[in-house]
Amino acid sequence: MWSFENDPEFQPELDWIDTFVREKVQPLDYLLGSQWNIHDPEFVRLVRPLQAEVKERGLWACHLGPELGGPGYGQLKLALMNEKFGMSRFGPIVFGAQAPDTGNSEILAHFGTPEQKKRYLEPLLANEVVSCFSMTEPQGGADPLLFQTAAVRDGDEWVVNGEKWFASEAETAAFYIMMVVTDPEAASPYARASMFIIDTDTPGIEIVRNYGFYGEREDTHAHLRLTDVRVPHSAMLGEPGQAFAIAQTRLGGGRMHHAMRTLAQATRAFDMTCERVLSRSTKGEVLARKQMVQEKIADSWVQLRQFRLLVLETAWMADQGQDWKAIRKNVSAVKAIMPQVLHDISSRALHLHGSLGLSHEMPFAEWVINSFHVGLADGPTEVHKMVVAREVLKDYKADDAQFPSYIRFEQERHARALYGVEA
Ligand SMILES: Cc1cc2nc3c(=O)[nH]c(=O)nc-3n(C[C@H](O)[C@H](O)[C@H](O)COP(=O)(O)OP(=O)(O)OC[C@H]3O[C@@H](n4cnc5c(N)ncnc54)[C@H](O)[C@@H]3O)c2cc1C
Repeated sequence: MWSFENDPEFQPELDWIDTFVREKVQPLDYLLGSQWNIHDPEFVRLVRPLQAEVKERGLWACHLGPELGGPGYGQLKLALMNEKFGMSRFGPIVFGAQAPDTGNSEILAHFGTPEQKKRYLEPLLANEVVSCFSMTEPQGGADPLLFQTAAVRDGDEWVVNGEKWFASEAETAAFYIMMVVTDPEAASPYARASMFIIDTDTPGIEIVRNYGFYGEREDTHAHLRLTDVRVPHSAMLGEPGQAFAIAQTRLGGGRMHHAMRTLAQATRAFDMTCERVLSRSTKGEVLARKQMVQEKIADSWVQLRQFRLLVLETAWMADQGQDWKAIRKNVSAVKAIMPQVLHDISSRALHLHGSLGLSHEMPFAEWVINSFHVGLADGPTEVHKMVVAREVLKDYKADDAQFPSYIRFEQERHARALYGVEA
């Protein structure tokens, strides 16, 4: 059965989240620095009470399925919730749904030993600590086969050496989940690396420098250097050589949530644009009456609706029991189109607000830059488009005839034969 309506019992929850984020969470965006700086006294004073309200409402850290000990909202509802969280920079952390902790808690719940869950997952889900996911290296991000950070076994320990790059929130994290080469000679290149949980205060780890980009309140993306870092074998998450499979596990749901938060940002840009073009006049009429302005409004609205449908359809497919691997075409399509949607809608918003739109008083330049962020983090757009094309083409096969079977004269001959019509 087709329906575009929410469950009647879920709609009040979404309405509550909407009002709560608009009234209480959005103001934090103007007051606080990094969302992950959870030990900042102002974070404690302003954010902790809001998190308590969310817990009271039963909406805290909803991202884990029942098989992983969570409430099991399912991807469609999580997508709709993330569309609300994304209206504010602080929305995700107020609801215990911030990246990279969501993905990290997912893989800890999935692959962690009971001890690892107790030590890392429980405080992470409670937001007593935050975490970092570290794969990328200075010499290569989009191609994980270029990674060189390696660990060598020494008795019951591993000794790790290498460098990591753009490890977001490394400074505030209590631990890293890090991809490290443990078997460089493995037959499959995708079995060469293992995942380790490494406490950030382990001797031998240095933050060489933190990098930031326009619009961020603090520089939080670290260049890390690891020199003879010793970790116990019990710090390995999952089995040796399983790092790529583990990394894939955290990306499906995470990409859907990220897409809906990005949609929320684009929707805010769109709402602001609509208000502005109805309010500002030039040459004797409001901007909204100019046809070239109307075209921009129409293009933005259509892009928003198309993107939203694609994300919700993909989330729905995940809820139908199709695993992330089976729907990777759809997930990559969502990831590939997301930067374009945010870029186009934020750019139109900036332009239609004129000089004000470009100024620091408006968020549009930040959001345009953010569109480049979402086009890189979790893999560049080109790689996702390649996945879409590869998966799409699996449903087709080549025809070795000289002309394609759908050429007109062949189709006509077939039609005449079928219905006995003379030429
Ligand atoms: C804001 C932000 C946060 C991030 N946080 C993290 C994090 O927490 N942990 C982590 O491990 N990583 C993180 N990353 C890193 C991210 O995963 C990488 O930036 C990404 O994988 C691309 O790697 P790269 O930056 O080295 O670019 P490169 O690999 O150097 O690619 C550069 C460009 O080359 C082109 N390109 C690359 N591959 C192909 C291809 N196959 N076909 C065609 N063109 C291609 C694309 O245009 C691409 O943008 C983050 C990145 C950003 C921007």
